[in-house]
Amino acid sequence: MKVAAQGEMVAEVDAPSGARYRRDKNGLFDMAPSDARALVNGGGFWPSLSGSTRKGIGYRCTTCGFGSYFKHCKCGGTCEREA
Ligand SMILES: [Zn+2]
Repeated sequence: MKVAAQGEMVAEVDAPSGARYRRDKNGLFDMAPSDARALVNGGGFWPSLSGSTRKGIGYRCTTCGFGSYFKHCKCGGTCEREA
């Protein structure tokens, strides 16, 4: 499962499972699904959204303050677009 990390300078990611992933030549990490989801929850994004990942595009949860690329936070709250 391919995931992109936030920021072009990210070359390696340590996943919650303990695995370390290196960025491939396309700037994506090919991760196990659970690690991919964790990376997305931590600020990464699915490649399908990679055309809209400029700074300032994203959402922030109004309940817990978690930054997200999705409108629905993992805590169950609703995220609003960041200014
Ligand atoms: Zn939240």
